[in-house]
Amino acid sequence: MIDRLLLHICCAPCVSAVLEKIMPEYDVTGYFYNPNIYPESEYNLRLENLEKLIKLKKNNLKVEKYNVKNWQEKIKGLEKEKEGGKRCEVCIKIRLEKTAIFAVQHSFDIFGTTLSISPYKNTMMTNRIGLELEKKYGVKFLEEDFSALYKRSIVLCKENGIYRQKYCGCEYSIR
Ligand code: SF4
Repeated sequence: MIDRLLLHICCAPCVSAVLEKIMPEYDVTGYFYNPNIYPESEYNLRLENLEKLIKLKKNNLKVEKYNVKNWQEKIKGLEKEKEGGKRCEVCIKIRLEKTAIFAVQHSFDIFGTTLSISPYKNTMMTNRIGLELEKKYGVKFLEEDFSALYKRSIVLCKENGIYRQKYCGCEYSIR
């Protein structure tokens, strides 16, 4: 039997090529927890596009409630940080910690994230956070670098009519 993977998904473009790569190896359930996305209309647009893709791929998807206020409280004082800095570290930890907890509660074998596909993300930071959570919660983390799949994700978005956003997610990343 193959391992059950809970995959944190930041958006449809990022998961498109990741799913193509890992689906033969894992029984994948998607996990959409991204309270960082601003404004809510953008959150809804990203979620709609993800649901469209997940339907095509016939995967399961768990969607957590949108709560940008709670996210803003946690990153207070870090609003002016550069992209890739301390604010992003906290933001990634918030999202991955919730994923790890859900994975433990629902007996997944392993958890992971699509975040490393983006050339704008610090993959080493993401993996370090994931491995710290692995230790803390006793659930294996899928340590990966999906950055080589970025170009493929652009092709897949075109083929499937998937919306590709122009900024990372939070209001501070809108330039
Ligand atoms: S730039 Fe992206 S990763 Fe960094 S805090 Fe904003 S949404 Fe989170």
